[in-house]
Amino acid sequence: MPQPIFIRNVLLNETRTNILIENHHFVAIGPEAAPSSGATVIDGSRLAAFPTFANMHTHAAMNLFRGYANDLPLMSWLNDWIWPKEKNLNDDIVYWGTRLACTEMILSGTTAFSDMYFHIPAAAKAAADMGIRCTLGITAFGDCAELTEESIERTLQAIQPYSHLVQLALAPHAIYTVSNQGLRHSAELSHKYNLLYHIHMSETPGEVSDCLRNHGCRPYQLLEQLGVLDLTEGRFSGAHSLHLDDNEIALLGRHRATVVHNPCSNLKLGSGHFFRFAELKEAGVNITLGTDGCSSSNNLDMIDAAKFMSYLQKGVRQDPTVLPAHELLQVATRNGFNTLGINAGSLHVGALADIMLVNTDNIAFVPNNDTLANLLYAAHGDCVDTVICHGRILMQHRHIDTLDETLTQSRRAAAQLLS
Ligand SMILES: [Zn+2]
Repeated sequence: MPQPIFIRNVLLNETRTNILIENHHFVAIGPEAAPSSGATVIDGSRLAAFPTFANMHTHAAMNLFRGYANDLPLMSWLNDWIWPKEKNLNDDIVYWGTRLACTEMILSGTTAFSDMYFHIPAAAKAAADMGIRCTLGITAFGDCAELTEESIERTLQAIQPYSHLVQLALAPHAIYTVSNQGLRHSAELSHKYNLLYHIHMSETPGEVSDCLRNHGCRPYQLLEQLGVLDLTEGRFSGAHSLHLDDNEIALLGRHRATVVHNPCSNLKLGSGHFFRFAELKEAGVNITLGTDGCSSSNNLDMIDAAKFMSYLQKGVRQDPTVLPAHELLQVATRNGFNTLGINAGSLHVGALADIMLVNTDNIAFVPNNDTLANLLYAAHGDCVDTVICHGRILMQHRHIDTLDETLTQSRRAAAQLLS
């Protein structure tokens, strides 16, 4: 059990308060809250408290590809640059790539991520060693023949030691890389094992037109026809979901689906810019935010992603009232944790103790007329001073114990991956 933590005199919702953390949870929040015996005390007088971010679409170990192969269209980027090098992946490379990603996430206030990659046990160990939460999707292609009851049970067993932080998901890559049979087969397993179904959907206009030509319907209609949306009801997470028509939005709402907007990746890869936030919200779809992998975004800073999302909505709609800051924060925090079934993403008694403390001496908070607006519209991830996940301090005053080792080993692993 971690030591209790007492945060004294911190700014929360524009008022000064105290926060007590015990047994991985918030146990008291308010001016009357007092430290319990043995508590680590954090002086919050120059800090503001916010829930941490849930980055809902990542390929964490792809941090090792950062800066490699830029300014290319999605299909050529994948076929000619990324997939050939991914043949070099092994446990060691994925472990250090994931640790590098987790380090970057901690430095910018993220304590949970929904991942889609390979070598799941190595990634699980990396996240657990760094102390953050993740839901790791087994990536599958073609008929998804590698997804079997046996392989799922073996992977569940392998990540069991980290189950306080790590969950398993299934991640059929996309409708253009997975057969209809594979989409259905993975949905049946998601249903049977109650695992999140995480898939790239409707990312480019080309994906939609190919689907219309090959299957006579749009991508989400294909999933509906295959029974995937029924089988994964309440456990479906569609990354990107950028090019949608009204009928697809209604399907997503009816099936209580989650979509993950990745504005920086969509813009950098030239995939599109009009995420239909208002219509998706109206239909009751759970809207979350992600960065995508570091070779297409090119960082894991959720404040960057949030700002891009907000400004795109306001600009495209020509309406500055769309997606106000408090709603943007919820998209980037609580909505994601809800999808992952984790009781975090908002600061209240009884919730799991995931919290970030932002340095209000950072230039973006001077003057501090509105702490939330300063966080989302003025600051960058480096305003985060302290991060606590599951009741444990992972970073304080921007210090992470393992930083030097992670940087050295990640540089070595990146050279091996790209050799
Ligand atoms: Zn992706």
